[in-house]
Amino acid sequence: MRDVQAARTTAGSFPNETIFERIGRFLDAQKLSADPAHYAFAFAVLSSPDSELAEAVRQQTDLGIRLTRHDIERLGGQVVKGPPVVLSRTDADAAAPAKPSLEMRTDTAIALVIETQQQVDGFAQIVRTMQAETEGFGHELAQSAAAITHLAELDEISRITSSMIARIHDSEVRLALATAETDALRAKLAEARDTARRDVLTGLPNRRAFEEAYAARDLDAGPYCLAVCDIDRFKRVNDLHGHGVGDRVLVAIGQAMAAECAPHLVVRHGGEEFAVLLGGLSLAEAAELLDTVRAVVAAKRFRNRETDTALGTITFSAGVTAIHADEVAEIAFLRADRLLYAAKKQGRDRVCAG
Ligand code: GH3
Ligand code: MG
Ligand code: MG
Repeated sequence: MRDVQAARTTAGSFPNETIFERIGRFLDAQKLSADPAHYAFAFAVLSSPDSELAEAVRQQTDLGIRLTRHDIERLGGQVVKGPPVVLSRTDADAAAPAKPSLEMRTDTAIALVIETQQQVDGFAQIVRTMQAETEGFGHELAQSAAAITHLAELDEISRITSSMIARIHDSEVRLALATAETDALRAKLAEARDTARRDVLTGLPNRRAFEEAYAARDLDAGPYCLAVCDIDRFKRVNDLHGHGVGDRVLVAIGQAMAAECAPHLVVRHGGEEFAVLLGGLSLAEAAELLDTVRAVVAAKRFRNRETDTALGTITFSAGVTAIHADEVAEIAFLRADRLLYAAKKQGRDRVCAG
């Protein structure tokens, strides 16, 4: 039934849908991958419902019959092997069982990228159509000029001029559509960019954001230092109070670190480990700042708000090192990790610099 409906979008039975949503459902119903060739085929079918191609596809897909590879090629399309187009986010969410939030975010990010890709393809198609339209307009303009030169009948000039005006109007409508698509595309790309660089639990930037910031260091702006911080005996928090409480403690400590270290970059590097990229500070200054943050966190008194029981103090240890000018991140990390290990060995709740 769903296939029949999707095939019948050519008849415009879903007036509130954009052309791009219709294309998405068409590809889904025909089990075609979200490839530009398939996209162009669907666009050609759906954007001109009165065309011979649309009629041929309608006849072929009536009663829910799916287009075969042969049908598409016969109708002038190109079949590309690949996974079928993903369902829209709403469909996918309804169909999928409950998943861990990280996976869901990854799925959402992938869906966003695919959706964005479809919009880029749609946009390119609109621009191509506009170009063809403008070419036709130029041709008519030339004809009109010739008609005037040869003092043709006024009726003929009037007919050509009316056609030109209609074409200009069509182009304006397409241009407005293209502009709206570009705005939507920009917003989705910004969202996808942000999602890919943010840790889901704490809302802090993630390891990828750290790597980018590390690579983009402004070496003329002074020395850089790296701190690797790890919460002490965190497993015990989970064991005693449950994973949910552990999660909330991670959020609270991450936010405290980010606030105390600002404007330096604090990221959740993984698990109960945070990394800080400190710009324009000497090693001694960086170690001092980290020790202040350590003292702020150690002074907090955490409580489990469900049971109103005290979690006591929660501390972290840190290793801080100066980054050499041309050093890759992995080497600086290794040094900071060794210093962190030393801080743990010396009794935790301390900062080791070197
Ligand atoms: P140490 O002082 O030596 O670092 O001891 P520790 O217990 O913190 O270290 P260990 O590596 O043994 O345990 C880390 C724990 O952090 C185990 C893991 O379950 C927990 N953890 C990692 N990521 C998360 C998370 O996202 N949420 C919660 N609640 N716990 C996490
Ligand atoms: Mg750890
Ligand atoms: Mg730990």
